[in-house]
Amino acid sequence: MTRITADVRFLRGYNQALVMAVGRTARRFERSTVVEATGLTPQAVSKVIARLSAEGLIRPTDVRRPGVGKPAVVYELVPDSRYAIGAHVARRTLRLVLVDLAGTVRHSTVSPLPGDFTPPQLLDALRSGIDAMAGNADLRGRLTGVGIGMIGPLDHAHGLVRGAHGLRHWHDVPLREIAEEHLGLPIHLDKDVTAGITAEAWRHGATFGDAALIMIESGIGGGFWLGGAAHRGAHTNAGEFGHTVVDLDGPRCVCGRHGCLEIVHQHAADAGDMARAARVVAVGVVNLLQTLDLAHVVLAGADLLRHPDTYLAAVTEAVSADARRANWLSTRVTLSSLGADAIAAGAAMQILDQHYGIPELAPT
Ligand SMILES: [Zn+2]
Repeated sequence: MTRITADVRFLRGYNQALVMAVGRTARRFERSTVVEATGLTPQAVSKVIARLSAEGLIRPTDVRRPGVGKPAVVYELVPDSRYAIGAHVARRTLRLVLVDLAGTVRHSTVSPLPGDFTPPQLLDALRSGIDAMAGNADLRGRLTGVGIGMIGPLDHAHGLVRGAHGLRHWHDVPLREIAEEHLGLPIHLDKDVTAGITAEAWRHGATFGDAALIMIESGIGGGFWLGGAAHRGAHTNAGEFGHTVVDLDGPRCVCGRHGCLEIVHQHAADAGDMARAARVVAVGVVNLLQTLDLAHVVLAGADLLRHPDTYLAAVTEAVSADARRANWLSTRVTLSSLGADAIAAGAAMQILDQHYGIPELAPT
């Protein structure tokens, strides 16, 4: 009995997510648009449309009167019906953004975090930042939750920060649980890079193929979008791209190995040789392309965005010269479409996805 109820609830959520996905991509849509795009029956679509309208997530905006046949109601997504807050927790800063249901960043703030900050210090910074943002925008009843994109290693499935390099107070900290208690809101916790690639996937819509987001910000990480979803790996620890070795006899890295991409890049950047630093990253990107065959590589992160043209040129050059010798292989290389907000915005989109998107897993 429980199983049947759960299945019905899952199916209802799934159908609703399909309609929301059409609404987010098309902005204006009719019942027939949804039927065509989703394969659901007209009756099922009518039910979902009625429910979403009652909740205020979509609204009728127009009536189309065809020459032949019945007039059709045109609906649109109501962007300000729901909001989410996204947080990007870096080693020295906390960036917060307010994102509406359509995925538009409405506000963005950045504040410093204390050096080697503790979990209580982060929770306090989150609370005061969120209170200020929610108060200014008057979000009563419309705030879905808070997405947190944080430096790893991090266990997304269990909501644990496993031990961020360079932060001494973050070993097996159940951040998702304590943040839910402290803030009184649903929390989605993920690696910064996975949040970032989610933002890019939202921005690009259905045309977004297999992709990676390379982030350089006091470390180097990679977020992956494979087969139409974020790829986190067996232990949700995918993305430690900076700790792949590019020089067997290279300098010792914070992770204990020698010649990791991150430390080799760091040495070049510290010496002021940004062209070499960018080439080191480009070599790593080509290794990724050879392994995963990606359609899109997105470059992001505060340290990268200080020299955007240098990195973009080096990676684009390496991709065309080293990886793509055949003309049937093509990979787009771009800078993050949301700039410095990419991680925080993606974290907010993840919590919107969780509530109004495709459910990640069927209930058991
Ligand atoms: Zn390393």
